[in-house]
Amino acid sequence: MANLFKKSYSVKLPKSQHEVEEFGKGKKGLAVCKNCSSVYFKKSWHHGLERIKLTGKEKDLPLNFILCPACQMIENKQYEGRLIIKNVSEKLADQLGDLVAGFCRRAYERDPMDRLIAIKKTGSAWEVTVTENELANKLANKIKNAFNKIKVSRRFSKEPSDVIEVTIEFL
Ligand SMILES: [Zn+2]
Repeated sequence: MANLFKKSYSVKLPKSQHEVEEFGKGKKGLAVCKNCSSVYFKKSWHHGLERIKLTGKEKDLPLNFILCPACQMIENKQYEGRLIIKNVSEKLADQLGDLVAGFCRRAYERDPMDRLIAIKKTGSAWEVTVTENELANKLANKIKNAFNKIKVSRRFSKEPSDVIEVTIEFL
C-alpha cells in the first residue's frame, strides 16, 4: 500500500512563472499559450483572445506563443496539489468522480490555470492531481462537506515548492 502512488512525478519546482513575468514587465506583446490558447493579459491568464477586451493600441501588440504555467506543469509531469483518497466504495465512486470533475471544471472556467490533471484509480484508492495547491485545498473541503465519515490530513512540501498533498480517508 505504501508504494502504491510512487510514480514518476517530480514534485519540485512547479512554478514556471518566470517566463510569464517577463512578459508582464519588459517585453512588448501578449503571451498566448500555444497549447490551450490562454492569454496572459493585465497580470493574469484568460480564456482565449476573444474573451478579453483589447483597446486600439493593444490590438496591435505582437503575440508571443509560449506554454502557459498550467500546460508547462502538465508537460513536465508536475502538479501543485495532490489528493490521495482512500477507501472509495463502489457505491460512492460515481458521486465522488462527478464531484471532483465538476468542481475542477467550474474552477477552470473561472481561471484557466486551475486544472484537474488526472484521476488515477487503483482499486479503492484514488490519486487526484491538480495544477494549483489552493484548488486541491478547496476540493478537499468540498469532499469533506459532501460525504460523511471522512478523515482529512494535509501535508505541505518544504520550500521552495508549493505542493500540497491531502490525504482523505473514507472511514
Ligand atoms: Zn496552456
